[in-house]
Amino acid sequence: MAYTNKAFRFGSFSFWFWILFVYILAALIWWFVSLERQNNEMSTLKLQELQQTDLQFAKKKAAILEYKKRQTTKFISEGLTFLALIVVGASFVYRSIRKQIEVSNLQQNFMMAITHELKTPIATTRLSLETLLRRKLDDVQQQKLLLSALSETNRLNILTNNILLASQMEEKTFQRENEKINLADLVETVVSDYKNRFPQRYIESSTDKDLFIEGDELLIQIALSNLIDNALKYAPKDSPVYVDLMDDDDTIQIKVSDQGSGVADEEKKKIFEKFYRSGNENTRKAKGTGLGLYLTKKIIEDHNGDIFVMNNTPGGSIFVIQF
Ligand code: ADP
Repeated sequence: MAYTNKAFRFGSFSFWFWILFVYILAALIWWFVSLERQNNEMSTLKLQELQQTDLQFAKKKAAILEYKKRQTTKFISEGLTFLALIVVGASFVYRSIRKQIEVSNLQQNFMMAITHELKTPIATTRLSLETLLRRKLDDVQQQKLLLSALSETNRLNILTNNILLASQMEEKTFQRENEKINLADLVETVVSDYKNRFPQRYIESSTDKDLFIEGDELLIQIALSNLIDNALKYAPKDSPVYVDLMDDDDTIQIKVSDQGSGVADEEKKKIFEKFYRSGNENTRKAKGTGLGLYLTKKIIEDHNGDIFVMNNTPGGSIFVIQF
């Protein structure tokens, strides 16, 4: 619904914009044609009034024709100035309204996604707790329900942290630590945490040697976790995810590779925008809010780093963090 709505809103804005633009252009052309006609009529009248016998006939005729020419030049230059102003103004209005519609659609998509993201873990946790309260269950079943409630509250925690952090980083109210981070330790810790949480998935890390940067360890952990979360989310359950730490010339790189759907070339930049999610909110199967990569990029840039995505072979994507 959000997608068709977006197409409709932008389509109808575009339609009326172009109608108005063509109308203004037509009015401008009509203004020029009528002024020029008036100019012609005036000079014809003046020429008719001029007496052939007048001693200064030739001089006066030349003056009338000269005046007519000057008027035409004046109309053309005024018309062109108006046209330039209209084109510049119209393209400014067009671009800003298009941007505004895009932002409001992204926010609408975000609201739909977040409602879903908040409701599902709350409903699941509530159901688990109600079942535990009402029925006498054996230890194994109890454990299963408790683990499910715990994992859902973890999801809620990550989501609220991402939202809070994104707004704090935007408002620059976040005070980040500046400590020496051993990236090899960090990668190993995050990957082993994921291995424990998703024992059925194949997640492998490779870190040749200790590599250090200055920054906030927790933030870098969040950035890396977002990339691994996505790799697990957007790649088939039986496909591997690799996290590699390496240094190349003067740069340190962390690469998260998956064999999933990959990212289309035209979306490789857009996916780092706030709330951006590929496809249609209703047909999208994977859960999410479109905040993860935006936040990750913000964190990495805040650490003077860079992040981008490349195609994996034969399929999937490689997200590269570069310091
Ligand atoms: P979310 O996952 O909540 O939608 P993100 O900001 O993390 O938000 O990602 C934005 C979009 O980028 C996703 O909706 C998805 O379409 C695309 N994307 C991110 N990571 C991957 C990946 N590893 N493989 C394919 N597409 C991805």
